[in-house]
Amino acid sequence: MNSWAEISEQHLTANYRAVLHIAGPDLPVLAVIKANAYGHSAELCAPLLARAGAPWLGVTDAEEGVRVRNSLTTAGMPLTCQPEVLVMCGPAPEDADAIVHHHLTPVVWDPAQMEELNRAASATPAQLSVHLEVDTGMSRQGLAAGSAFNRTLEVLGKCRHLQLTGVLTHLASAEVSGAAQTREQLAEFSHLLTAVARHRFRPRWLHVGNTSAIDNAKLTSEPSDPVTPMAWLREFADRFGARPMLRSGLALYGHALPLDSLTDSRLHPHLHPVLTWKTRIRSLTDVPAGAAIGYNATFRAARPMRLALIPVGYADGLRRELSATNTRPGGWTLVHGQRAPIVGRVSMNLTTIDVTCIPEARIGEEVTLLGPGITAADHAQIAGTIPYEILCGIRPTVRRLVAPLTSEPTFAPVTTAPVPSI
Ligand SMILES: *Cc1c(COP(=O)(O)O)cnc(C)c1O
Repeated sequence: MNSWAEISEQHLTANYRAVLHIAGPDLPVLAVIKANAYGHSAELCAPLLARAGAPWLGVTDAEEGVRVRNSLTTAGMPLTCQPEVLVMCGPAPEDADAIVHHHLTPVVWDPAQMEELNRAASATPAQLSVHLEVDTGMSRQGLAAGSAFNRTLEVLGKCRHLQLTGVLTHLASAEVSGAAQTREQLAEFSHLLTAVARHRFRPRWLHVGNTSAIDNAKLTSEPSDPVTPMAWLREFADRFGARPMLRSGLALYGHALPLDSLTDSRLHPHLHPVLTWKTRIRSLTDVPAGAAIGYNATFRAARPMRLALIPVGYADGLRRELSATNTRPGGWTLVHGQRAPIVGRVSMNLTTIDVTCIPEARIGEEVTLLGPGITAADHAQIAGTIPYEILCGIRPTVRRLVAPLTSEPTFAPVTTAPVPSI
């Protein structure tokens, strides 16, 4: 095995609790496990988050949703006790039957999606629950104000086999304190919801906000007006007779983006990285001073060095930007708790690290690529990207839980409080 990822059950559960705590009472949090739980394995994480009480899980597409449903069933959860599963990227036309069959809830915004789902749902007695995404200013996914808005809602209203159970939008600048864009997006959300209500839809859930929105206490407020986004969302949902909900992914895995200077992260002190990515030393070489190391001799040994070879490279998601030259340090790994810097270029499947000063470094010794002491944020900074891309990009041979479930858990059914009508 070239590399593996250890997933900490305790940290995942503790992070979810920390997010709930910061979000405050009565604010459920949809646990985002799209993109294979940001590289952590959606199938490993889904049962743990369900046990931690997540009422909703968010997946990328129907295929991932089916895998998640199966993982919950395999973990012993009857369907009626499983969280709802939101297909966040919307349905591909060929996925409609699988969505109905596996009780997934698709995000929709386009009449063609609604009609296809309505056709698929007509095969079963129950209505298919769908969430409408409205575009409030990101110009990415969702139904925006304009000529198609009312027409699309009319189509949805005619789809008898569909039930609109939620409306959501996504914020583009949630990590920016007091961002004008966020204020504008929330105002637009309120405006579009009023229009949705005029079409006599009574969505049960309204959701908005990601990890940074939860973290960013001053999201919507001027410095003189300390309204938290959570308070705003609660009040807002109340006005529409719906339940408010937040969505969080990054924080569940133990990370949060730095917020801009005005606001301290409230989440960060409570988060613990869930994933540790490891490999083992494959071989050791002693090289004399002057030896060229790796492609194009971008690094030359200034003194005799002991190099360890690890069987991981950019094909596994170890970013090539972590390469080091003599003048520009790159990334590092940890061997026996000590830093072993990457030397020369990261190649496709192989990387050399400097273990000259680590006598414990032997063939077969564990090497930590990501984990305590070398975080996804460190890799992201060196590679000029965001921790999301680092986490999603790693390809360990296997991912496994480090604290497997022992005791038989009991499941409370996911209950939904009755919602007064508008
Ligand atoms: C990915 C995603 C999230 C989660 O974002 P985090 O920053 O990881 O918390 C929330 N909402 C939507 C619509 C997303 O696509």
